[in-house]
Amino acid sequence: MRKNIVAGNWKMNTTLQEGIKLAEDVNEALKTATPKCDIVICVPFTHLASVNNVIDKNILGLGAENCADHVKGAYTGEVSAAMVASTGATHVILGHSERRQYYGETAEILKEKVNLALANNLTPIFCIGEVLEQREDGSYFDVVKAQIEGSLFELSAEDFGKIVLAYEPVWAIGTGKTATDDQAEEMHAFIRGVIADKYGKEVADNTSILYGGSCKPSNAAALFAKPNVDGGLIGGAALEAESFMGIVTAF
Ligand code: PEP
Repeated sequence: MRKNIVAGNWKMNTTLQEGIKLAEDVNEALKTATPKCDIVICVPFTHLASVNNVIDKNILGLGAENCADHVKGAYTGEVSAAMVASTGATHVILGHSERRQYYGETAEILKEKVNLALANNLTPIFCIGEVLEQREDGSYFDVVKAQIEGSLFELSAEDFGKIVLAYEPVWAIGTGKTATDDQAEEMHAFIRGVIADKYGKEVADNTSILYGGSCKPSNAAALFAKPNVDGGLIGGAALEAESFMGIVTAF
């Protein structure tokens, strides 16, 4: 059965000290909560090893926000999947729209990153989603399908089964404008159908598909109540333990 997951994406926020405090606060809150989902915080590279030391990995998972598309070597400033895994992290966000948009990450590059993440036993949280223009011109199903096909459909069924997907309509990220729960459900059901066509119903049914885009405590419950929405990837609301926990407990 697929898992319900709430994952935080801290992006380029918090100093190391602030990040450690935030991780400790989330970890502390989880000690007394009985969440009906797995929880992961995806933090800047600089924070990974230190955060790993202050959280209880039985209740809180740890992920990076990116990794390199090369194994190792002369790639100044890059951080490899093996380096990420060596910190204790178990997850990595790949294909976030900000990486695609600002850093030119293509389907090919992302394919390499996914392969390297899997080779290092990291769970990719693979982001897909259309921009506003594509929502408005009606091409959004084709766009999302192409993103999945372009980076993931050369994987074996076994490896595809290790991927977590995050549908993040770009027009809803950081804008305060959330997709409605019906819009999210419509896309998530479509994505599950695309997976079923390629890998079969069992793989599709076992794939966790998270929603991301201005998810907050006030709208999380309605989104998570939809049958094909298996949790959330949370940006802004993950930067405070209280709001993040408000989403975690929405299940
Ligand atoms: C994100 O960037 O992954 C995200 C969902 O951001 P926000 O929640 O701030 O819209």
